[in-house]
Amino acid sequence: MLKIFNTLSNKKEVFKTDSNLVKIYGCGPTVYDHPHIGNFRTFIFYDLLIRTLHLNNYDTQSAINITDIDDKIISRSIAEKKNMQDITLKYEKSFIDASRKLKILKNEFYPRATDHVEDMIAFIQKLVDKNYAYVVNGNVYFDIKNYTNYGKFVNLKTLDDDIENDLDKKNKNDFVLWKAWKSEDGNIFWESAWGKGRPAWHTECAVISQKILGNKIDIHCGGIDLKFPHHENECAQIESITNKNFANYWLHSEHLNIEDEKMSKSLGNSLSIEDMLKKYSSNIIRMFLLSSHYRSKISLSKSKLEESKKMINRISRFAEKFSTNEFDFTKNDLSDKHQSFIDAINDDLNTPKALGIFFEFISDTNKALTKRKDLKKINQESIIFLNLFNSIFQVVDIQNSDDKVFPQEINELLLSRQQARDNKDWILSDKIRDKLFNLGWIVEDSLDGQKLLKKK
Ligand code: AMP
Ligand code: ZN
Repeated sequence: MLKIFNTLSNKKEVFKTDSNLVKIYGCGPTVYDHPHIGNFRTFIFYDLLIRTLHLNNYDTQSAINITDIDDKIISRSIAEKKNMQDITLKYEKSFIDASRKLKILKNEFYPRATDHVEDMIAFIQKLVDKNYAYVVNGNVYFDIKNYTNYGKFVNLKTLDDDIENDLDKKNKNDFVLWKAWKSEDGNIFWESAWGKGRPAWHTECAVISQKILGNKIDIHCGGIDLKFPHHENECAQIESITNKNFANYWLHSEHLNIEDEKMSKSLGNSLSIEDMLKKYSSNIIRMFLLSSHYRSKISLSKSKLEESKKMINRISRFAEKFSTNEFDFTKNDLSDKHQSFIDAINDDLNTPKALGIFFEFISDTNKALTKRKDLKKINQESIIFLNLFNSIFQVVDIQNSDDKVFPQEINELLLSRQQARDNKDWILSDKIRDKLFNLGWIVEDSLDGQKLLKKK
């Protein structure tokens, strides 16, 4: 039974749907710069959610939008004297490339705001017609006083008073749907009944999510910074028209911090995922991000990344003992040990707990292997567990079994080469590599450590 923490009710809830097809919308990147590792904490969390739904035999249909209309994009394009698309396509590609490198399952849709502006204009017009929105000087605002359910995610009374009180607005929390063109925007604008301008971010997501997935979605997710006002405002626009809950579950992941501050492109303290991937393998980055619960804050640190590397090495050494060819574990009987891993994941995606269970299994199995009893059972149980574990964490590079079973002598040489490398004794390390080569094995050094292949 899958339980997830719904920000709407502030509680863990049993996940229920009408159909086996779960529709998920995740707020995507604003493409004015390379995405950073903080953004990817959130995108890996979306991936974890989808993998968990698959583990529970659901099919999924998911969309991550590309925010390619935004003030920061416009300023960058004007400052760099570049076409807006030259900027957005470059960073969209950076996001897609990094998603692939990080083994994030492909979503069905990556809709761009620029492809749906006509629909946004029609949607805003509907809100104006129904008196939920008003026009001032070419800007269109949502009137929160006319929508009684405003405040789903926050208590408005406890909100800070420091929200910019634009003189054009009727109420402090009214938010903009359409932004009138300003001279600084150069030639970036769309024509509308209210004059030249462009849609605002909250409207982009509200329109795209419905257009792509329909006006009833199962799960809407994002980083915690989006809960208010972005998600509040998405809900207000859609639900004022439909009078129905637009998403059943709202899931938010906590931030990745750097030196106690949120990592953010605008704060200038961000580390691009592209640069991170030059130093650390995708397995290490996935492990680092997944070893904490998605609802707890994490800080980026070298020591935590090194710890993740050690965990990957430990798992790889364990996996090397078995012929772990990918296979469908769901058709096999799962033992209590497998089940407790699944239960941890199903308990609001508790990856640290699940990881602990898996490491305990590795320790117990390593001990059991030395007794050389019940080897067939141990083998079967371990292969199932490795595949089950990987279906969620995706950090073990499963290779063909023929390349995996190393003779004892080779294992020992590998181990001493690792020691030589730890001691930065490159001469010895090269000597051992040559020795392995003469024995018929090629050793490659990757960011995850040594990889061994049989010479063909
Ligand atoms: P942006 O490109 O800023 O629009 O953000 C894209 C996604 O990354 C959103 O879902 C944000 O909530 C999320 N995000 C931004 N910064 C962080 C961070 N430091 N940690 C975790 N998620 C973040
Ligand atoms: Zn959004």
